[in-house]
Amino acid sequence: MRHRLYVPTAAAACLLLAIPASAAQPTPGAPGIGDSYYPTYGNGGYDVSHYDLRLKYQPEDDGLEGTATITATAKQDLSRFNLDFALDVDSVLVGGKKAGFAKTGDHELEITPSSALASGRSFTVVVRYRGTPSAVEASGFTGWLRTPDGGVAANEPESAWWWFPSNDHPLDKATYDVSVAVPDGTQAISNGTLQSSSSKLGWTRYNWRSSKPQATYLATLAVGRFDITTDTTADGLPVINAYSKDLGANDGAARASVERSIEVADWLGEVFGPYPFDALGGYVPNVPTGYALETQTRPFYSPRQFANGSNVSVVVHELAHQWYGDSVSLKDWRDIWVNEGFARYAQWLWSEKEGEGTAQELADYVYSQHPADDPFWTVKPGDPGPENQFHGAVYDRGAVALQALRNEVGDKDFFAILKQWPTQHRYGNASVADFRKFAEQVSGKRLTELFDTWLFTPSKPSALSARQAAVGTVKAPERPRSWKKIRATDSVHAHRH
Ligand SMILES: [Zn+2]
Repeated sequence: MRHRLYVPTAAAACLLLAIPASAAQPTPGAPGIGDSYYPTYGNGGYDVSHYDLRLKYQPEDDGLEGTATITATAKQDLSRFNLDFALDVDSVLVGGKKAGFAKTGDHELEITPSSALASGRSFTVVVRYRGTPSAVEASGFTGWLRTPDGGVAANEPESAWWWFPSNDHPLDKATYDVSVAVPDGTQAISNGTLQSSSSKLGWTRYNWRSSKPQATYLATLAVGRFDITTDTTADGLPVINAYSKDLGANDGAARASVERSIEVADWLGEVFGPYPFDALGGYVPNVPTGYALETQTRPFYSPRQFANGSNVSVVVHELAHQWYGDSVSLKDWRDIWVNEGFARYAQWLWSEKEGEGTAQELADYVYSQHPADDPFWTVKPGDPGPENQFHGAVYDRGAVALQALRNEVGDKDFFAILKQWPTQHRYGNASVADFRKFAEQVSGKRLTELFDTWLFTPSKPSALSARQAAVGTVKAPERPRSWKKIRATDSVHAHRH
């Protein structure tokens, strides 16, 4: 018995000797980055540092062709890795060498390099592709918006799949160069600064650059006939706004709102600290949708946002996201409150500044508008579930939670928290729990119960604040003057419709 046990042990020892201890067997990167709501979004095994997108788009037939050059670093010994992408791929090179590739699921591009990539190694992927983005469905819809004069990529969380291959999750941010050729007379709008544009043989090429880390869903592309306005802020920041030439009756109101971006960003800077990016602006394409999106440095606005006249509140919302959502991004889509609670609260602070209702009055009004049996209270803003990720409660109850925090810690600490947080996590990612810990650190108070009550309890909290609990039930508050304009921005993330 003894020597029978001894023999396999000796064999195992020989095998160990045959393989150097450092060389683990290369394995495939995970098809998802580990998100709790969207397990297949993003990918494991590598980290992207830069996207170089060289595109050509023909508005007539919605034809997009492109070459994406992606620089990345392997985070494990990789035998294979995935990109997220829905269009047709012609070829893939890794390190200049032909790589195998296969489409799996509706948005996975599985790439097998000619030889394994060692952990820590930088590598370059070149993907050549083409497609008709509006005709490609993934997750049951297309995130590409077709307009009479072109197309627009602006959606959340799914947007990149229809125009460039990527590691599609906010955890993997990168810088971008987006170069787009469009027929003369048509413009291509993207994020950041316009480095140059030039025309040749009937095509005009626009070269855009985003030099600060940017999440994939915050990258945007719009092709159409635009009127582009340019300006510079007092601090020298380039401002570029773009308006579809076909906004019709909404044109004036759109401009009267978006042209106030400099003023709004200045004011937000006083509340949230220095503006985190090197360009500013917004664009309004001729889309039939009703939502807006905080695409980095250049938010997307639907014309319908301006159907009842100007609405600066929606500009406040999307520009607030530049700090809360874009510069400091969520770690997991479950953490959506770190984006939306704050963007909505910024609208309330703007109302307070404009004398149209204080944040407390708006919070009281939201609280009184929803009786205890309203399903509104069953949505937990701190973990709403993917089906309720953009539910009104994430915004309104999410902002009420911030008012409750303000009442608990006092204005001095509250505004210190709002201003220091974006600096603390600039260009990074953070969770709801990270924010609670930070607020506890600044205020010196334990806030677990307050956060549990307002963000994680699926029922109506008994009172808006300790102050109100002390004075008993408040009488039904009056509707703040800013209510209607803020209500009109409720469709900001009602996407996919
Ligand atoms: Zn928002």
